[in-house]
Amino acid sequence: ATGTNIRTYFDGTWHAGDVPVMKAADHGSWLGSTVFDGARYVNGMAPDLEAHCARVNRSAEALMITPTVATQEMIGIVREGLALYPREAAVYIRPMYWAIDGDPTAIVPAPDRTGFAICLEEIPMPAEGASTTLTRTRFRRPVLEDAVVNAKAGCLYPNNARMLTEARAKGFGNALVADALGNVAETATANVFMVKDGVVLTPVANGTFLAGITRARHISNLRADGIEVRETVLTFDDFHAADEVFLTGNMSKITPVTAFDDTIYPVGPITMRARALYWDWAASAG
Ligand code: PMP
Repeated sequence: ATGTNIRTYFDGTWHAGDVPVMKAADHGSWLGSTVFDGARYVNGMAPDLEAHCARVNRSAEALMITPTVATQEMIGIVREGLALYPREAAVYIRPMYWAIDGDPTAIVPAPDRTGFAICLEEIPMPAEGASTTLTRTRFRRPVLEDAVVNAKAGCLYPNNARMLTEARAKGFGNALVADALGNVAETATANVFMVKDGVVLTPVANGTFLAGITRARHISNLRADGIEVRETVLTFDDFHAADEVFLTGNMSKITPVTAFDDTIYPVGPITMRARALYWDWAASAG
């Protein structure tokens, strides 16, 4: 855990602190059948909480893990846990499932033998004015034939960890990652957008990367504000020619990018507009 004031929902109740949830022989321990989602509670708002709860259930199904908590029920449990925090707390919300055991061949999760937990922890939002930098990585996103890329599965993240480690060793904040065809897909932890001549461009959701809930929300907000957004094929060269670049994800919502290898970007007006639109939307959505 990286945060403070952790609370865990497990076995039907909220516990103070982090609690053990898996046994050594659980399928999730030794075969890595785990899925999770990440959402945020900020200033009393939990933006797109329903979409995050629905997605963890879809992620479970993609790994053949039976989801055991319906979306609306999960929202209720999360809200019960959030009520234990002060309104001004910034909380990271992580619902997760794992398979408890498998069929006789062991590798296929047994139906209905599912573990479920929710971890809440206080993790501050990034400081006002925070930004990041990107470097190109040789590591790539797998396709659906290689890995369960249609799920937010724990087993996908070691690949992202090597991208981040490589990027940090080179002095950058994150990695710009290609899909199997060599086009830009996303970063190790967030989706990526660029602005060129007043138009917002983002890699088309081609099934190889997590087309995020925050990404969809920004696209919808920007379009409603009359800004053109195109989902299209984008190369690394396109990013070198961009006017502005920003990242989106549940953790930080939107992060300006100030450099991609030797290319420098300003924190531009459309990035600032997208941020303002996001928080206006969140306030109105409750
Ligand atoms: N890509 C990756 C690899 C991620 O881990 C995340 C964070 N969940 C995202 C994109 C952004 O997705 P979302 O907006 O749904 O959080």
